[in-house]
Amino acid sequence: MKNLKLAGRGDHERTVIEVGDLRIGADLVVIAGPCSVESEEQTMIIARAVAKAGAKMLRGGAFKPRTSPYSFQGLGLKGLKILAKARAETGLPVITEVLDTRDVGWVTEYADVLQIGARNMQNFALLKEIGKVEKPVMLKRGMFSTYAEWLSCAEYIMDAGNPNVILCERGIRTFETYTRNTLDLSVIPSMKTLSHLPVFVDPTHGAGRVELIPPMALAAIAAGADGLIVEVHHDPSTAQSDKDQAMLPEQFERMMTMIERLAETLKEPVFNGRLDFVPWNLRKESTE
Ligand code: PEP
Ligand code: MN
Repeated sequence: MKNLKLAGRGDHERTVIEVGDLRIGADLVVIAGPCSVESEEQTMIIARAVAKAGAKMLRGGAFKPRTSPYSFQGLGLKGLKILAKARAETGLPVITEVLDTRDVGWVTEYADVLQIGARNMQNFALLKEIGKVEKPVMLKRGMFSTYAEWLSCAEYIMDAGNPNVILCERGIRTFETYTRNTLDLSVIPSMKTLSHLPVFVDPTHGAGRVELIPPMALAAIAAGADGLIVEVHHDPSTAQSDKDQAMLPEQFERMMTMIERLAETLKEPVFNGRLDFVPWNLRKESTE
């Protein structure tokens, strides 16, 4: 792939991003929390539950990209302050989405990691602005984006000065309607060949159905994902966004037990990009 001198694999060392004690890209990191920050009480209940289950970072949207302008748009700055409280109590770093260049200052002040959502993957003005920030960024794959387009967006952020980009696959649009999106698991080992950046998977938006989340999460880890981001809600029927795909805390806890068992069994990645499984004709050319 062309014009990926920063995001492309090249001769770069694999990127490891430190967030507090976490080493993203080196250790398996599970991020969990509500789709939206709805209230202090809701966020605290969920933050405590996911911390207890072994999550290492808290997610929660304060600025929400909603299909309808009449749907809950997020608590904004108030939501960011709630996330900071949840971090203070649980010790979990927080990740939250930034939608608009005008909010980059606020979000950078409160969040440990900034999220660029699928709908904004190619918002080039936002990517350039995020490139000036000193916090790591999770770049979600656009729902209609090719691997090259996605990496090109990582390149925008890196070219603007921020090397700490985490890629996150969250499913793409296909003709299938049973699942909310189609989770592309091939992208994980592909990104290990094409890039040196950490690769996360969001099985919640990828599948959109709770019963599919544990198998997709385990498959993602087996395919080499560096981490997961998962939505959890203690009372999904009242959730202001994405209520149908939220796991209950006890379901999340059970999945975490399975994840720990799988990670223990795998010990090393099945494929990490340049090892024995790269076919002869892809060894050099595909990474350039
Ligand atoms: C989210 O994480 O809540 C979200 C809106 O994700 P995506 O951008 O992948 O749809
Ligand atoms: Mn969501």
